[in-house]
Amino acid sequence: LLNTMKKQFAVIGLGRFGGSIVKELNDQGMEVLAIDRNEEKVNEFASVATHAVMADTTDENTLRSLGIRNFDHVIVAIGDNIQSSILTTLMLVELKVAHITVKAQNDYHEKVLNKLGAHKVVHPERDMGIRIAHNIVSKNVLDYLELSDEYSIVELIAGRRVHNYSLTELDLRAKYGCNIMAIKREENIDVSPAAEEKINSGDILIVIGADSDITRMEQDLF
Ligand code: ATP
Ligand code: ATP
Ligand code: CA
Repeated sequence: LLNTMKKQFAVIGLGRFGGSIVKELNDQGMEVLAIDRNEEKVNEFASVATHAVMADTTDENTLRSLGIRNFDHVIVAIGDNIQSSILTTLMLVELKVAHITVKAQNDYHEKVLNKLGAHKVVHPERDMGIRIAHNIVSKNVLDYLELSDEYSIVELIAGRRVHNYSLTELDLRAKYGCNIMAIKREENIDVSPAAEEKINSGDILIVIGADSDITRMEQDLF
């Protein structure tokens, strides 16, 4: 009875991306059905997933017989075979699966998937590329999360120019329209820093703001 309350996940395509999702869901104690048309892949995940089955998901009857419409969330992680990815997604939409997440291989693929009605399209290679580029362009940017075309969250390392200044003294909100969401100092993280809080060089500041404002602030102070 308890098991029927648990969210049911299915992952189609057990490449590096799909495989990582299966492993992580399993680590988090979720029930996950792993599907691939390649028998070796299925065997590889037999001991990791709750169930692992060999199936070609472009076949509608196969999808029906797997009871795919009863899953809460289906992740299509078919990589290079764009035709398989599109056909599989189309049928999942037609079967009215509650949540469909699909990995896109390129921008055109992404467009098609959105038109088909995928609920979420992810583009991990591109997104990771963007993050890494931000990371290597500026030595002070540790990590970067794009919220929209305009807004981001970044992790910045505090240097000499902000050392021993409080948030009030720096006045980042007024001068740059940026908010410090949190300050990481060694093992500690302060998720609601007080205005009088003094920054130390080496602290990691988690900043939210418009990209242009963050860049301006970074150039002036970091
Ligand atoms: P990653 O970049 O995440 O490693 P990849 O580029 O290696 O992925 P592919 O190998 O192209 O991705 O596809 C991932 C898996 O999807 C493969 O193991 C492949 O067998 C499986 N796959 C492709 N088409 C189908 C299909 N129609 N039905 C089921 N599985 C499929
Ligand atoms: P407001 O919160 O509306 O800006 P306030 O008088 O409540 O005004 P304080 O919280 O006392 O402001 O902080 C004074 C100034 O310090 C703020 O105007 C802001 O510029 C800056 N400041 C405080 N906390 C932060 C933060 N988390 N991120 C960026 N700047 C901050
Ligand atoms: Ca790939």
